[in-house]
Amino acid sequence: MRIAMISEHASPLAVLGEEDAGGQHTHVAELAAALVGEGHEVRVYTRRDSSGLPEVVDASAGYQVRHVPAGPAQRVPKDELLAYVGEFGRWLADQWRHGDWRPDVAHAHFWMSGLATLHAGRRTNTPVVLTYHGLGTVKRRHRGARDTSPPGRIGYERALGRAADRVVVQCQDEVGELVRLGVPRSKMALVPSGVDEQMFHPQGPAAPRDPARHRILTVGRMVERKGFQDVIRALPTVPDAECVVVGGPPAELLPADGFARRLSALAESCGVADRVKLLGAVPRKEMGSWYRSADVLVAAPWYEPFGLTPLEGMACGVPVIGTNVGGIADTVVDGLTGDLVPPRDPRALGTALRRLLTDKVRRFAYATAAVDRIRSRYSWKRCAEQLGAVYATVAQVGRVAPAVA
Ligand code: UDP
Repeated sequence: MRIAMISEHASPLAVLGEEDAGGQHTHVAELAAALVGEGHEVRVYTRRDSSGLPEVVDASAGYQVRHVPAGPAQRVPKDELLAYVGEFGRWLADQWRHGDWRPDVAHAHFWMSGLATLHAGRRTNTPVVLTYHGLGTVKRRHRGARDTSPPGRIGYERALGRAADRVVVQCQDEVGELVRLGVPRSKMALVPSGVDEQMFHPQGPAAPRDPARHRILTVGRMVERKGFQDVIRALPTVPDAECVVVGGPPAELLPADGFARRLSALAESCGVADRVKLLGAVPRKEMGSWYRSADVLVAAPWYEPFGLTPLEGMACGVPVIGTNVGGIADTVVDGLTGDLVPPRDPRALGTALRRLLTDKVRRFAYATAAVDRIRSRYSWKRCAEQLGAVYATVAQVGRVAPAVA
């Protein structure tokens, strides 16, 4: 099949770990590569966000990246991109109508890509598959007045779910959210993300560490919802352990990062500053060695559409203590591959950490079960096979998606 993947703000070629860069970039890159591995032809369309970018890049994994001219050729925060979605959609429609390549199916990632893709899909009779990668309803619930999403996001997401040919959901929690939003269950296909097992596996080098202290690792962008502050608050109750935080801007820019400064101040006020290390962004190829250096990975977000880092940690043979939210509630099996704790609860997190860090046998058992779970369920190949089957159903139908209200 010829598959168009539309990822307006998240280029598969982008640097990871910065504020707007994260799981979606990895997801699109890995999925595109895995679909190529299944014999499909894949083009990824992403916004041209730098004047130095060529129009077309052939990624080494065998897919093509097209930089779409929509809005200024510079970085624009995700929440300000809606203004350029129309231009993006018109460009896609024009390409698919008049260009030399027409997709059999278009898979949009994130709601704004969904709007652009639906516009083009309707005009070119291209079936549209949508993955949300996070929902406005959930964000609004957690961030309230501080939600910077464009007004209307929730309404657009509802309309998109009804208009797209298929909606790919990543976890059970998302199914419930979408049903409550009014998206028909019959449209949904549950296909979780995968993990790169070449990059993330138990054998291999581990980052240097202090053998006298347990290492708690936590990974993610420097944003409040990732719950780093809860891990720091739990640390005073977990003796002899250090907390290494990976992610955010590059190390040299951390001192200027407002959130990183707040975390450092919090560590100071909790009396654990000597046990908290903020590393900043770590290149993806070095992530495996950081996971392997840890006794436990803590994934403590307040909410999480899916969460790749618990999968990566599990693949590296690291037990995970995760909050019982979003995709983490599916990927971490409580009492088998790790422990689930309530979000925003440093006391519960501290209790789980103390129990696990003082029980080497339990850590070993969790790690073994985690690796086994990843191997049997979370390969990108499996994900690509399942998505290929989803695409095939709509590509055969090939009907025009109804208009967004
Ligand atoms: N990551 C990375 N370097 C960093 C921090 C994160 O390569 O310094 C990667 C991490 O390995 C994972 C992704 O960024 O693949 C984060 O994905 P996740 O789904 O956990 O969170 P998101 O950023 O999408 O909210």
